[in-house]
Amino acid sequence: MNPEEVLREIERQVQVCKRCDLHYSRKHGVAGEGPVNAAIMFIGEGPGFHENEQGRPFVGAAGKFLDELLAQIGLKRSEVFIGNVVKCRPPGNRDPKPEELEACDIYLERQIQAINPKVIVTLGRYSMAKFLPHAKISAVHGRAMRVKDRLVVPMYHPAAALHQPSLRPVVERDFAQLPELIAKAEDAPEYQVEPLEEKSDPKQLTLF
Ligand code: SF4
Repeated sequence: MNPEEVLREIERQVQVCKRCDLHYSRKHGVAGEGPVNAAIMFIGEGPGFHENEQGRPFVGAAGKFLDELLAQIGLKRSEVFIGNVVKCRPPGNRDPKPEELEACDIYLERQIQAINPKVIVTLGRYSMAKFLPHAKISAVHGRAMRVKDRLVVPMYHPAAALHQPSLRPVVERDFAQLPELIAKAEDAPEYQVEPLEEKSDPKQLTLF
């Protein structure tokens, strides 16, 4: 199966998946979207109301802001892959549970393998925790780190900046750095993992 077929198969599978209880609140599974050869993969948390209705990621207010952030660095949504750590909407937009994250990870892992992006940008704490389980987002946002041969840049979720206006310039600054980080990913494969000293209890994670 070629990478494009893998993505299409995942798209089909998440519409009927019953690996966790989130399928009860699913109207449309949201596998993610974007070209199979995308250099950047954005990974958010999970579908909200509008995403569940439309079956597409980041289509609400946070998605509009994400589009603006991409435009600021000369990128269109159609040039990047956008997905989530869980593919079905948590009821009432609650946080995904550990068992739901674990059940759904099989799809995200296969998407990452198929797309093989140069840079993975995590949006929010749950996607960051997949790669950097002990990191604190306030300490590491906007910093590139190599994790298992992948360049990962943790960022705040765009919705966080909408809820907390003081975060907006922080998110904009982090995004503005992305082109340079991508260039580094291409030119400096020896890019080193930065040591993480601050630890947080994963049970204490909140949405952003
Ligand atoms: S969230 Fe993921 S694992 Fe759970 S039912 Fe949906 S597709 Fe399956």
